[in-house]
This record gives sequence, structure tokens and C-alpha cells, in this order.
Amino acid sequence: MPLCWGIDFGAVAEAWFDELSELLRIPSVSADPARARDVNDAAEWLAAFVRAAGGTAEVVQTETHPLILGDLHASNGSRDQTPGQVPTVLVYGHVDVQPPDPLELWESDPFTLEQRGEWIYGRGVADDKGQLYMLAKAAADLAAAGELPVNVRFACDSEEETGGHQIVDFLAADDRGADAAIIFDAGMTRRGVPEFAVATRGLVYLHVSARTGERDLHSGIYGGAALNAVHALTQILSAVLPREGRMPEPLRVGIAPPTEEERAAWAELVPGAEMLAQAGARPTDPVAAEEFYVRTTAEPALDVNGIVGGSPILQKTVLPVFAEANVSIRLAPGQEVETIAVAAEQLMREAAPAGAELEVRRLSAAPAGLVPPDAPALQLGLEAFEQAMGTRPLLVRSGGTLPIVPALVDKGIPTILSGFALPESNIHSPNERLLAEYIPLGIEVSRELFRSLARL
Ligand SMILES: [Zn+2]
Repeated sequence: MPLCWGIDFGAVAEAWFDELSELLRIPSVSADPARARDVNDAAEWLAAFVRAAGGTAEVVQTETHPLILGDLHASNGSRDQTPGQVPTVLVYGHVDVQPPDPLELWESDPFTLEQRGEWIYGRGVADDKGQLYMLAKAAADLAAAGELPVNVRFACDSEEETGGHQIVDFLAADDRGADAAIIFDAGMTRRGVPEFAVATRGLVYLHVSARTGERDLHSGIYGGAALNAVHALTQILSAVLPREGRMPEPLRVGIAPPTEEERAAWAELVPGAEMLAQAGARPTDPVAAEEFYVRTTAEPALDVNGIVGGSPILQKTVLPVFAEANVSIRLAPGQEVETIAVAAEQLMREAAPAGAELEVRRLSAAPAGLVPPDAPALQLGLEAFEQAMGTRPLLVRSGGTLPIVPALVDKGIPTILSGFALPESNIHSPNERLLAEYIPLGIEVSRELFRSLARL
């Protein structure tokens, strides 16, 4: 086994491999009602792990899937501080996983942790059981040595993969606060170059429909004179589509521009042209590749997710009077759900032809999140990673939506959102995997984070 970051992987392999195997063996698929007991078992596993480390923890049932809430107090006398003065670090992670299918594409059993070459395989090894384990294990190790320098509060859930909001509701109602939060549910674009995601995009999801008459008509008799709903809907939607790579101004209100450090970090990431090519995607316009990270993480974006109207399969000379579409808007960090949802509806109403009845329904929404990169907790976090890995994390923005980030930010809790998954970790896909050496490395980084955050 090679020596990486000074860690003798071979020597420590057994200890974590067996523990993580136990957790991965539980098929906690939150999307599958038949797996509800397994989801609960995975929650119980984490609670038991925290209790075995000397903490308190309980599995709290909710209307959907359970939360895991626990506290592991700082070791007595650590850093000569009295308990009240020791910072509290909140750890979030999720113990549920994506369904493993299609099973035939897995090269080993999805719920049996297996090492092949430099990778360990198993559903949840990267998203998120393996990563949550790094933080829990580090806290437990420090506590066992009597050296845990912070109070660690576990606030974890088991429904992240199904978009559950129990943890967000819990955090909103929990007035204890925390001095910092750590979430390892992300990754790095390039091996060995860690990233902190300081922003996440929000989401407004709309169902848009247009009605232009009582019933579909003969296009020979009425075509040219009667309003066509498909035409009306495309006209309505074109009012909110981007032009030259930018959304209409009313949908750009509130954008928090990226800092110089963030802009500089983009140059270190995989070039946009490569990101598009790897996905088999074609750029929207000649500047899209060059502006990849601006557009996918710092600007809002809108996608028509699907559209139906008339007779797109059978040849029918029909003049359709009803058409509908799903439309999602990713909000840039800094933007407000309400402002953008209202502006989008207004733009569409203004574009609707006279006589078209437009209905806009909001199916779901989630705020964007923005962690101040100069927050002391973030700076200490950067130092901790640099100390453990020899590389300072890049500050990046995530194009995705993660409602827990704004929930923590709203409570004034600076959040370190990072992790060890790689683009080739096959998250949500068959053969999910993590570099084996990243487990001991992640545990070491976590230890260093707890030590570092004690200085808050
Ligand atoms: Zn996850």
C-alpha cells in the first residue's frame, strides 16, 4: 500500500472498514416505502455510534423519516476551557441512500462494502454514509483520547435523497444555535484539491398552462383565425428564456456577485468546455463554455423541463386549445424566492396573447444559500484542511440546491460544506465508490477541523 499524506493506509484499514461495512449493509433507501425499517435501522446505527463514543443521541420519529439528534460533549479540561466556553460544532449528514437499481450494472453487491484496487464500492460510500462516518469517527476518536476540544452536535436526517425537509424545520425551530457547522456531502472536482462550497442555488419550480378555447378544433376550418394553445405557451415561455446567456433583468434581481477569490478558483477547476464535453452536452452559445462556472453557479438559470400540447405523436390536423409545461428556475446566491417567482409570473403574463388563459402554479421552492467566505469558522476550516492535506481548499459555488445551507445561514451558523467524492465516484449510479485512502484522510481532516474550530 502506498503512503499517502503520511497515512499508512494498510495499517489502519481494518478498524474503519468493519465499522463502515456495518452501516453500508443496511439498505436504507428512503424512496422505497418497503425499506422504512432499514432507514430507521441506519438512523439507530448512528445514534448508537454516538452513544458508544460517550455522547447522548436519539432517533426522533417524524411524519416522514426520522432525525438523528445527538451531542458529544468536549472532553473535560480540554484546552483548559470551561464547558460553556467551548464552541459547539454542528455536524449534518444523511444516512439514507439512493435506490441501487439497475442492479445488473453493479459489479459487486451494492450493500456490501468491497475494495477493488484503489476504490471502495457500495451504495452510500460517498453519498453520504462514508462521509458522515469520517466526521463521527473523528469525534469519537478524539473523545476516546480525552481530546475532543469542541462540543459536537449531530443533527442528521434520513430523507435527504427524497428531498425531505424535517431537518430544515428542526433547525428553524432550534434556538440553541451553534458556532459552526460541517457538512461532508460534497466533493472535489480534481483529486487531492479540496473545495468549500460557499454558495448553493435556490429553486422555484412552476407548472405553467395555457388554455385558448373550449375544445380542440379543425385546423383547416379554424387555423389562422383561432388561438392555438401551443403557440400561446411557446410565446409565454420565450419571455423568460435567457438571451445571450443571461436571464431577463427582472429575473437577475438580487444576485450576490462572486468574490475575487471565488473567481480565481474557477480557473483551477476543470475547464467548462471539458465539463460540457464529458457530459455529451452542447453549449447554448459560443461563450457558454468559457462562462461555465458563472452561469451554473453564480447566475440564475431557467429550464423548461417538459412541455405537452396537442398531438406530437399521431398525425392529427388539430388546433390544440390546451398546453402545459414544467419550468424550473435555479436562483443565484443572494436572490429571493418570492421576488423571482413573482417576476417570472409577471413576465409570462405580459407575454401571453390576448384570449389565452394562463395558469401558473408553484410546485416547490427552496432558497439559495450563501456563506460569508470571510467568516472566521470558514477561515479556520481552510487552515485545517491545508494542515491535513497540504492543499488549501478552493472556494466554489455549488450549482445545486441544498435547503439546509440557507437554513443554517439564517441561524447565523457559518457552514463548511465540503467532502471527498470525486466526479468518478458514480454518485446516484451503479458502482458508487470512494477512494479508499480518503476514509482515513477524511477522518484526519475531521480531527484537524474540530481542533481548529476550538479556536472560535
Ligand atoms: Zn448526499
